[in-house]
Amino acid sequence: GNQPASGPASGSEADLGQDRPHSARMYDYYLGGKTNYAVDREAAQAVIQVFPAIEVGARANRAYMHRAARYLARQGITQFIDVGTGIPTAPNLHQVVQEVTPQAAVIYTDNDPIVRVYADELMDGTPEGRTCYIEADATRPDSMLTAIEATGAVDFSRPVALSLHALLHFVPDGQDPYGIVSGLLEPLAPGSFLSLTHSTGDYEPEAWQAITATYRQRRTFTQVRSYTDVLRFFGQLELVDPGLVAAHRWRPEPGWESGPVTDGQVSLYAGVGRKP
Ligand code: SAH
Repeated sequence: GNQPASGPASGSEADLGQDRPHSARMYDYYLGGKTNYAVDREAAQAVIQVFPAIEVGARANRAYMHRAARYLARQGITQFIDVGTGIPTAPNLHQVVQEVTPQAAVIYTDNDPIVRVYADELMDGTPEGRTCYIEADATRPDSMLTAIEATGAVDFSRPVALSLHALLHFVPDGQDPYGIVSGLLEPLAPGSFLSLTHSTGDYEPEAWQAITATYRQRRTFTQVRSYTDVLRFFGQLELVDPGLVAAHRWRPEPGWESGPVTDGQVSLYAGVGRKP
């Protein structure tokens, strides 16, 4: 059928764009979720065909998010802005950080209407804390920031953790991704953090050429970037240990990995930088 196998069935077909695969729903499929349509599953399976490890990478990305969010909460960050949140997948960011800091505020944003349909799952935070969902386009950082300010949930005089996880490979060079990141960082107080993950073709160049072609043929633009080009997103920020690394290598927690995972399977850089 055309409905996701579970969850609310609100929104018209036109609203949710079932004419072509969407990155959020393909990613949900890689993670074993049920919020995806036939058009997404076809595209995801085409990617899996050329690169079966895409599912390993998706899980490594998610696991990195958990570790980075926990790390940032333990650094004393109580405000989080997550851009390109994706379809809810438990645990979500707020569940991770509010476990450390129940009063933490988490602002979620995405530009895909399917995420709004399921956004209730992003709102089940602690009574002491706060969670919000905003539909906004990251390629218009000023209006995104205005919408975030309008929630009143963020005190911009205090540090914020900005997360851009598996987002920027959907922002081609022509849309000024570096300007977008510096625009989002600009209003943040000293001591704020940026956490990002980004797909790379550095380890498996041919496979990633085929993957990006598979997305593009289906009208979703993706662009993998090299280590140097991903590093550039951090600008003047100070990278925390261990720097920009394949996602599974970022502060691994003992006993977390279920089996051996290679850099090539993960093909995703991850890092955290601090605004001086
Ligand atoms: N951050 C989540 C989901 C990554 S999937 C995670 O790492 O697990 C990428 C998400 O980015 C999708 O939900 C997609 O809708 C969103 N996205 C892509 N381009 C965007 C844009 N220009 N503005 C906001 N969100 C965008």
